[in-house]
This record gives sequence, structure tokens and C-alpha cells, in this order.
Amino acid sequence: ITPKSFFRARNKADEIFSQFDLDIVENNTGKTLTKQQMIELCSDVDGVIVGLDPMDEEVIRSAKNLKAISKYGVGLDNIDLKVAEELGIKVKKAEGTNTRSVAELTIGLFFALSRSIPKAVIDVKDGRWDRTIGTEIGAKVVGIIGFGAIGREVAKMSSGLEMEIMAYDPYFNDIELTRAMNVKMTNIDEILEKADFVTLHLPLNEETNKIINSKTLSKMKQTAYLVNTARGELVDEDALYEALKNGIIAGAAQDVFSQEPPDKQNKLLSLNNFILTPHIGAYTKEATERMVVISAKNLIEMLF
Ligand code: NAD
Repeated sequence: ITPKSFFRARNKADEIFSQFDLDIVENNTGKTLTKQQMIELCSDVDGVIVGLDPMDEEVIRSAKNLKAISKYGVGLDNIDLKVAEELGIKVKKAEGTNTRSVAELTIGLFFALSRSIPKAVIDVKDGRWDRTIGTEIGAKVVGIIGFGAIGREVAKMSSGLEMEIMAYDPYFNDIELTRAMNVKMTNIDEILEKADFVTLHLPLNEETNKIINSKTLSKMKQTAYLVNTARGELVDEDALYEALKNGIIAGAAQDVFSQEPPDKQNKLLSLNNFILTPHIGAYTKEATERMVVISAKNLIEMLF
């Protein structure tokens, strides 16, 4: 077991584990493990519950007894799925466990951007009574890229805020549902051109890496905001820096980075129209509890 926050609700997993004959090895460093640490931890295990720690080709191949990888979360980008499949190792994610939490953070970031909330807090605490004019969210267009569990939850919440909703997802074709939800399915260009808030909810893979780059950013409105609570690598961070610095778009918020934590020298951190959170999308009491239970159940199901 590797994820740090797993241990917040460890007792829930123990109830499940206690019915089986298991020897448990834990990561007790309190940190995401390095590749070398993963190789050592997994050297002997039959199954693993893994967070963001690297389960790449080398780690998987070196774990000679490995039969099951249970993802504590839903993003499988840290797991080499091809190698797992080749070796007959089962992989399961904790589907749906953190949908609401990530969607709520996403909507929170819409408000944080549109009303400059982080800057307002810092200003007043530093003795400046300096008011930045905001914009309303109601009646604005939200463009959702990736219409899976989280994308659909964001749509539901945006609808409550009386926003106009567009979505792009080449693999989603439940027309009935989108009609019922009042969501216009369209292409990525229309989203970039029309949305006031572009929000990313797609998985990271070869196809989606840097899907937001200088070309796609240049299609966005100058008044638009980009929100990324999915994966850092979906956005070309150099291109985002240029776009924010040169007023190509109005602002951006990220919960995720290609390097976590970001380097202190990361240029994005110097910009006032860039706000960030430390990968807390799924980090709520409710979501972590669900993630512990489901990832433990998934592991047992795959092993027994
Ligand atoms: P999901 O699998 O339910 O939905 C992903 C959707 O993206 C699917 O509908 C899929 O068809 C779509 N998609 C795939 N390729 C696409 C493309 N090229 N263009 C547009 N859409 C595409 O997953 P989810 O539960 O909604 O999670 C989405 C992502 O959010 C995860 O992959 C994960 O990386 C990220 N996430 C982040 C946090 C966090 O803590 N910040 C927590 C949970 C999930």
C-alpha cells in the first residue's frame, strides 16, 4: 500500500482485509515513492494499492509475483497498462469515488478566478484594501473537455449556476443524456472559441499530452479562463505562461502539475493571473474514505 492519505481511513480497509490471509507491506515515508523505492516495495508482492507512485515498465517487470494493481484514484497515467496487460496483471481504478470532490474543487476554482478571491485575501491581509472588479458566472459559457464522470458532474453543477454548457469528448455518444442535461456536444475548436471557462476532465495519454498548447490557447477568448484539475501534462506550461503573460487568455487555475510539487523557479508561479492548489481535487474526507474502501475491495476481488 503506497498512498499517504490511505492511512487516514485505514481502519475501513482493515475490515475488508481481515477476512483474508494477507501480509501487508506499507509505504510509511508519507510521500509519493520514487521508482527505486517502488522497485524495492513491490519486489515480493502479489498485489499493490497505488496512488501517484510510478508503476512504469521497469517497476512492473521487476515485481515478479505481481498479479493485481489497484489504483487508489481514477487516473491510470502512472501505470504502464500495456506492460501490465502483456504480463496478465489485472488493473482496476476506484471509479467514481472522487467525482464529486474534483467537480466541487473545479467550480471553486471558477469562482476563485472570476472574483480574484486568492488575491483579495492576500491583499487585505497585507494591508491593501484593493478591489479587483470581477465577473459573474451565471449565463457564461463553460466548455468541458472530457465528458466522463467528473466532466458530467461539473456540467450538473454548472447547470445549477445557470451557465451555458458545451462539451467535447470523442468517445462519448449518449445523445439522450446530453439532451436531458442541456449540454451541447461539439468539437474542441468551438469550445476554445466560445467558452468563458475551459475546463479539463480527460485522461492523460499519448493522444492528450499537451492538448492545451500555444495553438489551442490562441483560439481562446482573451477574457476566458482555463481550469485544469485533471493532469499537469495536458497543458504545455511554457505556452500557458506566455498566454497568461501576454493577455492571450485572462487567467488559469491548476490543481495539477507536470512536476509535483512544481519547482520554485516555475515561471507560472510568478503570475498574478495564475492560481494553484496542491493536487487536492480528491483530497476530501468523503472521497478518501470511498477511495480506501473501493481500492481495497478491488484488490481483494482481483487477487481472490
Ligand atoms: P472518466 O474516465 O470517467 O472520464 C474521462 C473522459 O475523458 C471519458 O469520457 C473519455 O472518453 C474522455 N476522453 C478521453 N480522451 C479524450 C480526448 N482526447 N478528448 C476529450 N475527451 C477525452 O474519468 P474521470 O473520473 O472523469 O476523471 C478524469 C481525469 O481527472 C482522470 O483521468 C484523472 O487524471 C483526473 N483526476 C484528477 C484528480 C485530482 O485530484 N485533481 C482526481 C481524480 C481524477
